[in-house]
Amino acid sequence: MADIRDEAASAFEDVFGYTPNGIWSAPGRVNLIGEHTDYNDGFVLPFAIDRRTVVAVGTRDASVARVGSSYADELVEIPLADLNPEHLTGWSAYPLGVAWALAQFGADLAAVPGLDIFVVSDVPVGAGLSSSHALECAVALALNDLWQLGLDRQTLARVSQITENQVVGAPTGIMDQSASLLSEKDCALFLDCRSLDYRIIPLGLEAADLAVLIIDTGVKHEHANGGYAERRASCELGAKLMGVSSLRDLTAHDLPRAREVLDDVTFRRVRHVITENQRVLDTVAALESDGPRAIGELLDASHRSMRDDFEISVRELDLAVETAIENGAIGARMTGGGFGGSALALVAREDVSRIQVAIDGAFAEHALGIPDTFVVVPSKGAARDR
Ligand code: ADP
Ligand code: MG
Repeated sequence: MADIRDEAASAFEDVFGYTPNGIWSAPGRVNLIGEHTDYNDGFVLPFAIDRRTVVAVGTRDASVARVGSSYADELVEIPLADLNPEHLTGWSAYPLGVAWALAQFGADLAAVPGLDIFVVSDVPVGAGLSSSHALECAVALALNDLWQLGLDRQTLARVSQITENQVVGAPTGIMDQSASLLSEKDCALFLDCRSLDYRIIPLGLEAADLAVLIIDTGVKHEHANGGYAERRASCELGAKLMGVSSLRDLTAHDLPRAREVLDDVTFRRVRHVITENQRVLDTVAALESDGPRAIGELLDASHRSMRDDFEISVRELDLAVETAIENGAIGARMTGGGFGGSALALVAREDVSRIQVAIDGAFAEHALGIPDTFVVVPSKGAARDR
């Protein structure tokens, strides 16, 4: 971590020729449980991970914004007057879109000084760990400080969501930004996506000698975006036919009626959301009463529900989950939007390398590309580092 902070500071000086005003960072995230519940006004339980995006930021007397990144070759320069969705494209739309979104919360873009940003990150891009939100949240926190906006972290999460929705054009919810901004070390964030109330839930992984292993299958299905939109549409239809404003308003008691009212596919989509919301609540209760070893079956059940009812898993994710469980994982499930991406397994620390080897072996046996497997540590959220 100290390394990428140093890297960001010295790259900033090389590129822009002066010392940055400060260094801020924000982490990527993993969702422990609660999948496709966010846009149904339901519950999620993500945590921030020990991979962060660092931004060195400086202001100076100028009328342009400039942004560079170790991830991109180009240095982007744009007049401050052009900081709006029409002019922001490519990767720089993420950091500079935040500046535009902040104008909706009191920033006066006609009055701010010239802005320079250099980005260095160890959050893998496109691996489902939310590198995009890590970048937005780091910039949002930095500009909130430098422009003295005094916004709280829940508002900064909204700023990041507005950036994704209105500048980048990605229909994301509020979970990832909230995890990046609000998380604490060795804890998960229990978030109610309707009220936006949240609670920090100790995970106790350290004390229990447990680790979370991520298995990044590297699979990215072309129909992922279409599939996501289709699932959202099914959920909306299910809610409408059941006479509620969102599936959040239904519980297991409503399942018999749902079975009568809905066609089979819509019923199974709805059943996933209803049972997944309950599993999040049960996971929080189990963590609080019995600790992390008690949540394995809930993780496994979540995976089965996504595989059979929501139908968003793929062969590689099923193989990763099955292999982890067969080799002693406490629980495992695919995580993220589905149709590819990563699975997570809760494992005893001493079993990590054995399970990694077993997964490599299983994928080789099925002639599938070997996944990238690595441990993530629940970590503190965004911060000013210098
Ligand atoms: P993820 O699941 O990692 O968030 P996205 O497709 O949502 O995947 O976001 C990835 C995009 O975010 C990249 O293509 C790039 O445009 C931008 N991005 C992420 N990290 C960086 C970085 N360190 N520097 C520049 N751009 C970045
Ligand atoms: Mg993203």
